[in-house]
Amino acid sequence: MAKISINIASGSIEKRNVVVGIDLGTTNSLVAYNESNPSKPVLVGENNNCIVPSVVYFDENNLPIVGSQAKNQIAQHPERTIFSVKRLLGKNFGDLSGKTDYLGYKIIHDDQENMVKVNVGGHYYNPIQLSSIILKELKEKAESFLNATVDKAVITVPAYFNDSQRQATKDAGKLAGLDVLRIVNEPTAASLAYGMNLTDADKTILVYDFGGGTFDVSILKLEQGVFEVIATHGDTYLGGDDIDKQIVQHWLLQNGIDLEILNKNQIQELRLFAENAKIEISNNPHIPFEKSLKFGNIELNTYIDYIILIEISAEIIAKTMHSVDLSLRDAKLQPSQIDEIVLVGGSTRFPEIYNQLSSKFPKVHINNQINPDEVVALGAAVEADILAGNRKDILLLDVTPLSLGIETAGELMDVLIPRNSKIPTRVGREYTTSVDGQINMKIAVFQGEREMVTQNRKLGEFILKNIPAMPAGFPKIEIQFALNSDGVLKVAAKELRSGIAQEVEILPANGLTDSEVERMLESGLLNAQQDINLRLEQEAVNEANQLIYTAERFLSKHGNLLSENEIFGTKQRIDALKGLLTTNNRNEILSGVEALNDYTRPFAERVMDVAVSAALKGNKIQEL
Ligand code: ADP
Ligand code: MG
Repeated sequence: MAKISINIASGSIEKRNVVVGIDLGTTNSLVAYNESNPSKPVLVGENNNCIVPSVVYFDENNLPIVGSQAKNQIAQHPERTIFSVKRLLGKNFGDLSGKTDYLGYKIIHDDQENMVKVNVGGHYYNPIQLSSIILKELKEKAESFLNATVDKAVITVPAYFNDSQRQATKDAGKLAGLDVLRIVNEPTAASLAYGMNLTDADKTILVYDFGGGTFDVSILKLEQGVFEVIATHGDTYLGGDDIDKQIVQHWLLQNGIDLEILNKNQIQELRLFAENAKIEISNNPHIPFEKSLKFGNIELNTYIDYIILIEISAEIIAKTMHSVDLSLRDAKLQPSQIDEIVLVGGSTRFPEIYNQLSSKFPKVHINNQINPDEVVALGAAVEADILAGNRKDILLLDVTPLSLGIETAGELMDVLIPRNSKIPTRVGREYTTSVDGQINMKIAVFQGEREMVTQNRKLGEFILKNIPAMPAGFPKIEIQFALNSDGVLKVAAKELRSGIAQEVEILPANGLTDSEVERMLESGLLNAQQDINLRLEQEAVNEANQLIYTAERFLSKHGNLLSENEIFGTKQRIDALKGLLTTNNRNEILSGVEALNDYTRPFAERVMDVAVSAALKGNKIQEL
């Protein structure tokens, strides 16, 4: 099957260049390529070694070993065996708080790069490096299998991955020596594997992807051979792993054993044991599982059957079904308007999933004939083939999974591109200044669904400088967002009266430029862990400071509009709030903010000065 070409001029054997498709999964990764004549996607590997567990074990010399061999080390060397890296990709320590208990390895927060790191035997690795180790293994596997050079790839990601996570995936590919031609959404890949694009009929497809570490439901519209993601929902912390954890907890409870008395090795061993039990029962629902497991003098009975399994995973499955409902709501569709369902992810082999989906969608065809753990890689290979120029008939459209916006006064998020917008897209909006003579304006770009930017992910910022001095509210500053199909965001700011302009290409916070990727290879220094509570408190402090500032300015500018009593009442509340700021107590600060806010709110309306009024209401870009 591997083809070799000979350069007639030099007589040398030339290796083909193959573009591969890679499913870089939380739990398992696979690589596939497209065979020609007849054209069909094929997995790299022999029957039972196509699946590469996404696990990296570092041996005593800190040399990485990837795959099944690494997975076998989890129980023995939990602190040297890294799994579920995809959950860490593009995340900072705050994102992960309280979600790392089950990991046997150490997670560290590096302040400087705003990226988590993993400490293995005194060496520090970030998720991009760890993912690149897995990708390199897949690249080499494909190269030896195909006897070809593999330096171009399509890599899939869950549809709800944000820009940072997509960029991090690209960077990992680059670090592994792969030119990542495109990042493709997993549901799109799965639909391609089923060849849904090859019929003329327009279709609405719901892709239910329940893997090891992530759950993801997407609704795709297929029109004239063109895919478009119209809604996505999901959870990066919901997967088969969670069912395994439930089983572990069930056993511990049944045996009256506290998790605390087990060491990390034992917890990992139990975890793997639970996964096996789950798979056995899901494959043979009528045969209960029961084996005894010994940890020193602790003996554990591990009985579990299908009924218990359904019971203890009911909540997890219910969450996935709720996401399905939300995706329908987002897409404004009834279950009957779905034409096809595609099952993706190893956990959909659990019969309960099929049962629940078929009662939710009584008349809809559920596609499950391609192995759910292979379907994404196969589809990625189809996409790779398209990008290699072998199929010109298909086009892919995508949507942005999270809202993109800028920070406005009071640290509020102002969304320019809402989530689920089709990309590429371009949006513009006008802003102005909030103080007289303001000549610089900070434009800080964020991503996320929360109202406060401090709760969202910062992608970058720049300063529009040299705005001619004008009264507050007078400058017209147009901000343009352009998001291209690779997920790169260009932000342009222009003051329309003077024409001064500035444009910036925003790389996601965790995304790395070429030189940074190189520098990253040298391990960074360990930094102190961020205090998450401090951040929450800081938000209240910022809000208070902002309000004190505007209230004081209001008094000095417009004191004449207020009565003696009102001036006194305002000053009193400003002083009270200043006093509360010294307490460092978030709730008290917020109550002081509310008191001052409530008191001064009616004053704003008395004033004709647009800028001050607006500043008090908080809808202007924060001044510098
Ligand atoms: P990911 O996309 O997250 O890497 P996969 O699609 O490979 O994951 O799915 C891995 C998950 O599927 C694991 O949690 C595994 O335990 C689960 N799984 C595999 N086979 C079965 C089965 N027969 N029944 C239930 N779950 C299974
Ligand atoms: Mg998957």
